[in-house]
Amino acid sequence: LKNVRGTLERIKPYSPGKPIAEVQREYALTDVIKLASNENPIGASHKAQEAIREALSELHLYPDGGQTLLKQALAKRFSVSEDMIVIGNGSDEVITFICQTFLEPGDEVVVPTPSFSEYDFGTILMGANVVPVPLNSDFSYDLNSFLDAITEKTKIVFLCSPNNPTGTYIRKQEFRQFIENLPPHVLVIVDEAYNEYVEASDYAQGLDFLKEGFNIVVMRTFSKLFGLAALRVGYAIGPADIIGYISRTREPFNVNHLAQVAALAALEDVEHMKESLRVNREGKQQIYEGLAALNLSYIPTETNFILFDTKVDAKQVFQSLLKKGVIVRDGGIFGLPTYIRVSIGTAEQNERFLRELAEVLAELK
Ligand code: PMP
Repeated sequence: LKNVRGTLERIKPYSPGKPIAEVQREYALTDVIKLASNENPIGASHKAQEAIREALSELHLYPDGGQTLLKQALAKRFSVSEDMIVIGNGSDEVITFICQTFLEPGDEVVVPTPSFSEYDFGTILMGANVVPVPLNSDFSYDLNSFLDAITEKTKIVFLCSPNNPTGTYIRKQEFRQFIENLPPHVLVIVDEAYNEYVEASDYAQGLDFLKEGFNIVVMRTFSKLFGLAALRVGYAIGPADIIGYISRTREPFNVNHLAQVAALAALEDVEHMKESLRVNREGKQQIYEGLAALNLSYIPTETNFILFDTKVDAKQVFQSLLKKGVIVRDGGIFGLPTYIRVSIGTAEQNERFLRELAEVLAELK
């Protein structure tokens, strides 16, 4: 088509985790488990579900375009002002907002690799160019190489901490050194989608640096710990002037009413949060031990997923697990052809995954 913007030719379609229904149909299975998209295995907060039931009588009304109550609650929770927050239809949409706010064709955006692919999408959508910076061989960050990758064309550096798909994170000291040496024309965005799962005490909390006065924007989501992936609620917190401009790209009713009321209720449901973290902590140990028993090495994680090396063609492992009704992620999509990324599930799900994995690897030998 002659009139289509050329940059769209460069966009690769996102490859999502396979939906359960599709695998059930394709392999004629009934009991399929999905450990592929880092969802919360215990489900959404019952308080959030109740809030949705109550809000069903309001479906004929437009949602609150100002996202007032949710913004208020987030502002209170993080001790920031409401004008420092913008809420999106998932943090995916927030990434697009940020790219629309800052990028002109030909600009450069520095991103980690392997990492979350939506940074590339937003960048290319705007006709800008992605400058990928590899993580170290143990998948830790070397922030000096991010500084080295910056040119006068660089507008944004995206960092993902803890990083998807590796589970590795940025340490306080290295982030301080990085941000103090960052040229002033560059904005750093820290995607903290997995923040709530972090246990490491030397983790660089983006909000601490923001409150210290550094020009950074932090992104969070309700899709992981809060178990609301279906509803699509993500947000960014940053300096009010930056958030003001980002908000101009937002359509007034981008976050629907059910999503707003559910997110608000989930935020207050401390019990659900604690239980989710407990299940994740125990599941992490269970999978660590299971992988070690299979002589497989894994990358220590600060998230709700684990990346591990199968030492064989991961595509085959992925396919064989699929046939047995266990959906995981093939590392090939991240450029890691022998790796699998598995989301931490319930104890029973983890056990089934480990059992089927052992069988699959034995068959492939
Ligand atoms: N950032 C990262 C690092 C993620 O892994 C994900 C989810 N896969 C997202 C953002 C998107 O989250 P949301 O559901 O809020 O769009």
